[in-house]
Amino acid sequence: MVITDIDDKIIRRSWEENVSPSVISRMYEEEFKRDMLSLKVIPPAVYLRVTENVHHIVAFIERIIKNGHAYTTKEGDVYFDIQSIGDRYGKFVGASGPPVEQSSSDKRDPRDFALWKHSKPQEPYWESPWGRGRPGWHIECSTIASCVFGAQLDLHSGGIDLAFPHHENEVAQSEAHHQCRQWANYFLHSGHLHLKGSAEKMSKSLKNYVTIKDFLQSHSANEFRMFCLLSKYRSAIDYSDGSMLEARSTLETVCNFMEAARAYMKGQMLTAPVQEAVLWERLAEGKSTVLKSLADDFDTPRAISALMDLVYHGNCQLQPVATSDGVVRSPAVFGAMISYIREVLDMLGIDLLHSREAEVSSSCGVLRPVVEQLTRFRSEVRAFALTRQDDPSCAKPGRHPDRIPLLRACDALRDDLAPLGVVIKDRGASSTWEIKVGQTRPKVHHEDQETGS
Ligand SMILES: [Zn+2]
Repeated sequence: MVITDIDDKIIRRSWEENVSPSVISRMYEEEFKRDMLSLKVIPPAVYLRVTENVHHIVAFIERIIKNGHAYTTKEGDVYFDIQSIGDRYGKFVGASGPPVEQSSSDKRDPRDFALWKHSKPQEPYWESPWGRGRPGWHIECSTIASCVFGAQLDLHSGGIDLAFPHHENEVAQSEAHHQCRQWANYFLHSGHLHLKGSAEKMSKSLKNYVTIKDFLQSHSANEFRMFCLLSKYRSAIDYSDGSMLEARSTLETVCNFMEAARAYMKGQMLTAPVQEAVLWERLAEGKSTVLKSLADDFDTPRAISALMDLVYHGNCQLQPVATSDGVVRSPAVFGAMISYIREVLDMLGIDLLHSREAEVSSSCGVLRPVVEQLTRFRSEVRAFALTRQDDPSCAKPGRHPDRIPLLRACDALRDDLAPLGVVIKDRGASSTWEIKVGQTRPKVHHEDQETGS
């Protein structure tokens, strides 16, 4: 929820393009919010911009100095004094590579980091007790988080690359400010998204990325979520056509099961006797596995696999038979399975009621009677056109030549509806139909690095 709205990159771009840094940062901000909404990420309760909170940051730093954990230099910089907190520094060292050595003659210890930097000519600046300058990178998060949540956080998240030095320094300065021993109770560090075959994480500077907008041309937000859920949040994940197809087919398997289970519940599908006790047992087992997996550091792949296991066993019992006279039916257990699966997916942000996957069934809900009427009409026309001529006065019996345009029109309608997902199959004089989702192949935007081979 903290927006670092003006950083070095934005300042550089504002020089290059001669546009104010705040205009550029607002553009990125809006783009970010749009992207998150399109991925169905629930917005935070509040967004706070660093540039609107500099006075809080200055006060935060003053307090750290007063508490004896920071010092000023003659240049007008303020540094955090690592030695003042002894061996409490270094929780995350090694979590994301070796510490970066920065040499500055003014620092007491090479590990000391800037809380406040004096501004260079042309840079945006704010007034402070140490002269004109701007906040260091880490202090922004500590101050703004403290403004909202007070002296302690329960959960703090971020990408694994932020663990060190960013989170390490956030912890050091926040504990120095609040004079507490544990500022954040838990850190959740997520792994990076990689384009398959690329060792580096996706990043703008490496140009090895897929934009969210491009991505959503060929995939749904639900598919992206399923793709993420199929890996542990801590591990790096490979983005590839293959992994996206896996996510898509996982969702489809779930949706197909739910559709079959509903058809069974409504009595539209006849099956051999269902082993109901087995399914109740599987459902109970599934619930317990999902709970255990999520309690184990959000092991979502295991939770999803438990759901898929449930789907598998449900499907095993839904084998259609031609006749099932006198067979005892068990609709309730399927109702319980459907609602449980939907509940878990909904909790994980996969909304099957309002998704593209469900759009198929829900828009089918609207479309179905229309297609039904249309195909019935077409069938009648076709049957009429196919009627053979058996007028004895005719030279040879056969099709009425004047009805051939009708047949052509029926064929054209069938062919034109197919790309729209309405698949009509003519079986002799009668026809069947179904509605299918369009399956476009995902497009991956991949540019080689400048050094690329
Ligand atoms: Zn931060």
